[in-house]
Amino acid sequence: MKTKFKISLFLLTLFLILGAVSDLTYAQELPNVNLTYLQRGQAVKDLQSALNKIGYKLDVDGVYGPNTRSAILDFQRKYPSLVDDGKYGPKTRAVLMKVLKNGPVDEIPIKGKIAYLTFDDGPSKTITPKILQILDKYDIKATFFILGNMAEQNPAILKTINSKGHSIGHHSYSHKYKYIYSNMDNFWGEINRTEKILKKQLGNNFHTHLLRLPGGSFEAYKKPYKKSAIDKGYRVYDWNALNGDSEAKNVSVNRQMARIKETVKGQSELIVLMHDSNGKENTIKALPQIIEYLKSKGYSFKALSQ
Ligand SMILES: [Zn+2]
Repeated sequence: MKTKFKISLFLLTLFLILGAVSDLTYAQELPNVNLTYLQRGQAVKDLQSALNKIGYKLDVDGVYGPNTRSAILDFQRKYPSLVDDGKYGPKTRAVLMKVLKNGPVDEIPIKGKIAYLTFDDGPSKTITPKILQILDKYDIKATFFILGNMAEQNPAILKTINSKGHSIGHHSYSHKYKYIYSNMDNFWGEINRTEKILKKQLGNNFHTHLLRLPGGSFEAYKKPYKKSAIDKGYRVYDWNALNGDSEAKNVSVNRQMARIKETVKGQSELIVLMHDSNGKENTIKALPQIIEYLKSKGYSFKALSQ
């Protein structure tokens, strides 16, 4: 009995020492500084090498560019204790160290299924306040990709979205594809005009890195616009699920539920496209059912980080 105890004690001590040594090894490999978008240097190289060890495929070029930020965002979304802001700091470092030490990412509990509800083309007087009420009732934070001209008309509603802790992202000023995508000057003219409106209404400290291209970024001709936005530090989001509320006029609640069910497909992370523009009364009616459905499938809800 005594010998067994001694052996256990010996093994325990050995494990503790080995643990401390390997912690030290990983600590040396991981940069101990804060890193963020467009930073450069050896620390960024070290971070990129570390990320590649756990399955990411980054160029180790020492530039904290879009791919490095996407890798960090992807990593942060998997762990409950991390805020997904795309920045590398002490908390991300601590979790990354654990993952490096304990092996494959999926051996550590990952965040459950997450649904990011997004509402485009508002804020509107008729629809947005009711969407906000429903979100309040369920205690859900969502993301609003707003239009500059709508924000200009509805400053109080924009302020409410912001004060309730939802995220706000760019979605152009006019939503007029032909104008926006005819050249880069028009595109940035719309974003900058909207940025000014946002700052005027929400204060100079307000800033958002979120952007959704009108109509999404799927078509080849939009690639330069997407790239230009990413280069300027925006995070460009499309969607991978939708309620189809813009596929026709007055899309019925049943139809919206059917579109949700066929697009969700058990994905672990959902970015759900919906609209809070004028005329979307049926979206208000469908929203509680959409939320209930997603909850029943095990999703929790988050806003994309601004
Ligand atoms: Zn839109």
